[in-house]
Amino acid sequence: MKITDLLNKETLSLSFEVFPPKTEASFDSVKTATREIAKLRPLFMSVTYGAGGGTSKYTLDIAKDIKENFGVPSLAHLTCVSSTKETVGQKIEEIKAAGIKNIMALRGDIPSHLENADRSGWAYRHAVDLVRELKEADEDFCIGGACYPEVHPESENQKDDIKHLKEKVDAGCEFLTTQMFFDNNLLFNFLYKIREAGITVPVIPGIMPITNANQIERAIKLSGSFMPRRFVNLVDKFGSDPDAMKQAGIAYATDQIIDLYANGITNIHVYSMNKPDVAEKIQSNLSDILGK
Ligand code: FAD
Repeated sequence: MKITDLLNKETLSLSFEVFPPKTEASFDSVKTATREIAKLRPLFMSVTYGAGGGTSKYTLDIAKDIKENFGVPSLAHLTCVSSTKETVGQKIEEIKAAGIKNIMALRGDIPSHLENADRSGWAYRHAVDLVRELKEADEDFCIGGACYPEVHPESENQKDDIKHLKEKVDAGCEFLTTQMFFDNNLLFNFLYKIREAGITVPVIPGIMPITNANQIERAIKLSGSFMPRRFVNLVDKFGSDPDAMKQAGIAYATDQIIDLYANGITNIHVYSMNKPDVAEKIQSNLSDILGK
């Protein structure tokens, strides 16, 4: 089932993101966690892809398991940065063989040792190159892309970032998922600007429940996200008490979701990070709203 055919226009739906194991030794525990999340029957589940190799070989195994054994539609991520045409071509064949139709087409972060490299000879410089290749490989793929309410860190300004986002959509990206954000106004402003720029595809906001203080530093480093005062106060108050921090982080994420839904947004992606308890708690906090 294509993600774009699943998206709800009227009622709230949650999807969850998981990541594949880093080593074969952790495969079983990751599989168990992703299966627990699948049992919550989200609208779909996305499985990330380790840029430059790493965990990439397990992405399809997990995506296939969720789809075939739990009937939950899966979205397999694929990155292209510093990859060869041969590697990406082979991955596309594997995706087809696994019967996966939904692909999140990403550039991936540039590995630190290549940050200053000459990129002119690279087979893939931006995600749009991968989007075009996927569309050529199979018209029927349903392709998603990433977008950044607070501007991608490499972009000079939001205008350029949105211009490139439009190119990605025009090349065949049928829906977008956002980078995490902690202030919903940033999302509302972003939506206004991209709609004005002629980007009309569905945008699924990505919500990251921050459940421990260490996660915050990592999240800011990765996304450059703005931390509203209300959120900073919460971390100051509860950061040193793991249970309280977890409860407060889940409450904050729940509150963000309720506010988004109250403002007309019906499909929300939760960065559940292989934590079934967090996914379950968010879902149960919203049980009457979700009708689950
Ligand atoms: P692009 O769309 O290529 O954009 C990257 C930068 O290049 C932007 O600044 C953009 O404005 C600019 N740009 C785009 N096209 C052009 C052009 N033609 N000319 C000049 N500049 C251009 N990483 C992983 O490794 N694995 C994952 O599974 C993964 N999943 C993610 C899921 C989501 C929802 C998000 C938001 C991010 C994810 N990432 C993942 C991180 C992502 O790979 C990085 O943020 C990466 O730096 C950019 O990827 P992109 O696909 O957005 O790139």
